Parts: sequence; C-alpha cells; structure tokens
Amino acid sequence: MTSPTIPDVIQLEEAQQRILDTLPAPVVERVEITNGDGRFLVENILAAVDLPPFDNSAMDGYAVRAVDVAGASATSPVRLRVVGRIPAGGGFDGDIHAGECVRLFTGSLLPRGADAVVMQEETRTEAGQPDGVLICDRAQPNENIRRGGEDVQRGDLIGRRGEALTPGCIALLAAAGISDAAVGQRPVVGLLATGSELREAGQSLAPGQIYESNRAALAPLITRAGGVPMIFPLVSDTLAATCAALETAFAECDAVVTSGGVSVGEMDFVKAAFEQLGGELQFWKVAIRPGKPFVFGRHGKKFLFGLPGNPVSAFVTFLLLVRPALRRWQGATETGLRSYPGVLGEMLANRGDRRHFVRVCVDASGRVFSAGRQASHALSSLAEADGLVDLTAGQVHPVGTTVNVLDWA
Ligand code: AMP
Ligand code: MG
Repeated sequence: MTSPTIPDVIQLEEAQQRILDTLPAPVVERVEITNGDGRFLVENILAAVDLPPFDNSAMDGYAVRAVDVAGASATSPVRLRVVGRIPAGGGFDGDIHAGECVRLFTGSLLPRGADAVVMQEETRTEAGQPDGVLICDRAQPNENIRRGGEDVQRGDLIGRRGEALTPGCIALLAAAGISDAAVGQRPVVGLLATGSELREAGQSLAPGQIYESNRAALAPLITRAGGVPMIFPLVSDTLAATCAALETAFAECDAVVTSGGVSVGEMDFVKAAFEQLGGELQFWKVAIRPGKPFVFGRHGKKFLFGLPGNPVSAFVTFLLLVRPALRRWQGATETGLRSYPGVLGEMLANRGDRRHFVRVCVDASGRVFSAGRQASHALSSLAEADGLVDLTAGQVHPVGTTVNVLDWA
C-alpha cells in the first residue's frame, strides 16, 4: 500500500473475493429443463420416484425361476412353458410357477415369481411347440434384471443447488418426471469498447486506426459464462462520449463490461465517467499480467467491469475476474476455470515481477508448449492457445514439469 486511502494494486484472489462478496443473490426464474442446458440450479431437487420405477428386463428373452434352469446347457436344454408375453409398457397380472416362463423384451416389467431373465440368444423354439421354449443355459438369480430403485431411490438428490444443468442431468430429471426447475436468471451484460482509434469491420482504416476486436471476443465469453451479451456502439475517447455510453448501457443492462480507457493516461475516461454517473469504484489494478489495470465498480444494483484495452489483457481479465462473477450471480457454486495437468514440452519462465498467465498449447499427448508471443496485444498466440498456465513472478519451470492448464473451453 502506498497509502491507506488510495487503493493500490491488489492480488488476484483478493479481487475475485471482493467481487463475489459484492454480488447480490441470483434472481430466480423457472425454466423448462429442455431449455435449461448450462443454467445453474438454485434449488436442490429430490427424486419423487424410484429409478427404474419397477423391476424390469435388461434383455429380450424369457423371465424364469433360476431354480428351474439350474441344470440347463446347450446339450441338455430345459423345456419351459410360455405362459405369457409382456411387451415394453405392458402390465402382467399373473405369477410364474415352477416350469413356467414369460416372453419379455428390454424394459418389460418382470412378472411376479420370476427372478432371472434368460436372453433370447440362449434359447431355442421348436417347430410344433408354440407354447414351449428350450432354455440352453443356466441363469443366476437376478441375471439380466434391472431392479426398481437400483439407480435412484425416491428422496435421492438428483439436482444439486449451484450446479449447472447438463444434458446428462437433464436426462435424469426428465426420467424422474420433472419438467422444470428453478435457476438463476442470466444477467444481461453490456459491452462497450472505448478508443478513438477503433473502427468497425467494413470501415476503411485511416493511419493510426485499427479494427475493434474486444467486443467480438468478449461476447462469446459472456455467453459461455451464462450471460446475455448486448453489444453497444464504439465509444470515442472523450469524457462526454464515455458518460453517455455508460449511461445508456447501465439503463439497459445488469452489468457493463468496458474495454480500454482504464489506464493512467489522460485519455482514459472510464473511471471518471463512471464516477460522474454516480458509480462507486471498488478497486482498480490487479497484480497480474496480462491485464494490470482492471476496474470494478458498483452502480446501485448494477456493476462495472472495466477491462484493459489490450485484447489479450481484456480476454484474460474477463476469464479471471468477470466470468466468476457472472457464474456466481446466476447461482453457481464453482466459479473458477477448470484445469487439467499437463507436462511441459519446453521450459516456461516468468522473468517479470508480476504473476503471468501464459498462453499455452497442449498437444495430443498432453505436452504443454508456449502458444507463441506473449505480449498483451498478440492475438495469433491467443487464437492458437488451448489454455493458460499461471506462473508466479520469477518462476522457472523446466521441461518435464507438470503444470496446471486453465481451460476456458
Ligand atoms: P487502452 O487500454 O485504451 O490504453 O488500450 C490499450 C491498447 O489496446 C491500445 O493499443 C489500443 O489501441 C488497444 N485496444 C483498446 N481497445 C481495443 C479494442 N476494443 N480492440 C482492439 N484493440 C484495442
Ligand atoms: Mg484507449
């Protein structure tokens, strides 16, 4: 700290925690589970039924009493009387008695009295014996039977608060007869790019001008984090233009993500404009590379995430600081990036004095390499990269070191 009153550079974890602590509880809405992929549950869901709901057959075949076929083999088959036929979805009232069996299909209800299913491939029918079947193999009790409740029992937790609905989870809920669920609302996130040098694709470039790329990258990252991106027009570097753009975006969105204009130059207007609109800055500057200037501010119940303008810095600070916020705001328990281990195929070193999130590529055998130029404007390496490796200042990892690759896919 340079002074107790002037906010200084803070550590990443502190910044993350302060953001999460500031966010309100999710706004709850109900969605049809078939439209719920990726939404975060804000309630625990308990099964109201057993799964499977009843004992049933795992095969096409015959329901038998195992004791009746204990001596069956290909050379000495046992003949049973077929006393019924249960298609999948059909019911059956009777019982199976000694010497009897019932024709079944996969998913058919298991008739009372039966304790095994012999698969069709281990049976033979005989010409002129429509009511009989030859069983050519023995069966253990429970063989080829799926017991009611063996997968899920009534009262089991089948959807956990804070976890995302996935296609697998949606299948489980559907099988339990559930059609909708309470989830966190998706925040609408406005995207502003500041910089008088920026132009839209299709416009011609005068000397000194560049095409804008941050909104294009951040919009899909917002979508992947569960938010709804709303793209606003380019903002030139004046206080008035920045104020007007922020005001419009805050009126229409739950949060606003800006890029550029948060550094120390006299052309950096985001902080001043935000304060002029009544926003409260919570902190700026986080001790990471790429991306040291980063502003977090609060505007009533809405939030400003002011990202640096350099495209890789904007991308990485979004992943480390905005993505967790968007997830938590929707009710997610897990907010960090997933990671997986990889083995360095080349040395990775952080010669600088700030923690560095290095872009890396991972080959088919799990070996990790630098994705190329690591400067914060270098987009070719970002396009190549599979993930990030977190290197503390001064850290040198030789070839062969196992590292954690942070994944944003
Ligand atoms: P700033 O943070 O505004 O000082 O910008 C830092 C660098 O990032 C400058 O080279 C800008 O031209 C560049 N930059 C800022 N915003 C964008 C953007 N939206 N798209 C591409 N480059 C940008
Ligand atoms: Mg700028």
